Amino acid sequence: MKRITLSEIQEDNLKKRHLIYFETYIYPLLVDIYTKEKDNQEFKNFLSYLKSHYKLIAIGSPNDLHRFRDKIKIKFPEIFIKLFGIEGLSEKENSEIIDKDLRNKLLKVFNYDGFCKNINKIDLYRNRSRLDRHNKSGWNAYALIDEIGMKVCPYCEINYILLYKDENGKTRPTLDHFYDKAKHPYFAVSLFNLIPSCYTCNSSFKGSRDFSIETHLHPYLDDIEGKGKFTLVNSDNGKFDIAKLLTCEYSFEFKGVGDVIDKRVENSLTIFHIRELYKEVKTHIDELINQHFIYNEKYIEQLAGLSIFSGEEEIRMILTGKVNIHTGKSIVSDERILSKLMKDVENELGLTYGKM
Ligand SMILES: [Zn+2]
Repeated sequence: MKRITLSEIQEDNLKKRHLIYFETYIYPLLVDIYTKEKDNQEFKNFLSYLKSHYKLIAIGSPNDLHRFRDKIKIKFPEIFIKLFGIEGLSEKENSEIIDKDLRNKLLKVFNYDGFCKNINKIDLYRNRSRLDRHNKSGWNAYALIDEIGMKVCPYCEINYILLYKDENGKTRPTLDHFYDKAKHPYFAVSLFNLIPSCYTCNSSFKGSRDFSIETHLHPYLDDIEGKGKFTLVNSDNGKFDIAKLLTCEYSFEFKGVGDVIDKRVENSLTIFHIRELYKEVKTHIDELINQHFIYNEKYIEQLAGLSIFSGEEEIRMILTGKVNIHTGKSIVSDERILSKLMKDVENELGLTYGKM
């Protein structure tokens, strides 16, 4: 789990462009449905509440969205039950309580599919003066992912999430709705509810499960770094014995700070099957172990003496993929898969800082 970090300029730009999109395409639909609603007073009140909080819905922080969700539960209990069902009831029982029409009505307003498509020409023309001022290329899912610039899935750090577009084809990462869009249709196009992520994490594992910042790590708030580390295990007592590395099979596990794994970390590790999938990509760790034995202290000393490198530190940085050998420039960790796992194992093997 890797945190999505944005610079201040990036965040300002994202918010500015997203709010213009929201005010141009979403807000008018909200006003329209509010004006037309005559029969259901609670729903009309609810729409009015959404209308008066549209900025928060559009660009509010994950914490803002969390508090907003809680307020809806208190202020509009009947609507909340129609959207969520009742806690403790089975899926089947809740399927009779949940109002699918209500969900769909809201999903038409908070039109995520529209955000994923290119803005059509008529709308662009109609709103040209507004869009051109801030946003020459239009704003949609592609532009959002491009602006965020994340290349590795923040949930698993296994898969690349690449954005590519030319006249012959295009691809983009999926956008996961941290708060599920069926249950929270009003967050379907909320900036900080849209998480660029890989298909496996978004669709195969998370699906429509109800996440919250109280139950799972949020990629805009949390990083697994500092909450524990992956550690190698190759003995019966659950410890790592470096001397046995060449003769015994090894595995690895995640240890929390003080050997206690935070519940949100555990939930995220479990739902995305991190432990199981990391075992499937063990070849990356095998390579590190090979390096540990081949590029031992003596060999690194010899290489450092060749005057090609500035010193042992540079050699270790190159070996662990942190510096590009051709350019001498740092490789950004956002562009490296498995960076947390690799970093923890590198430290355990002493490849980066320690000695063999
Ligand atoms: Zn993923």
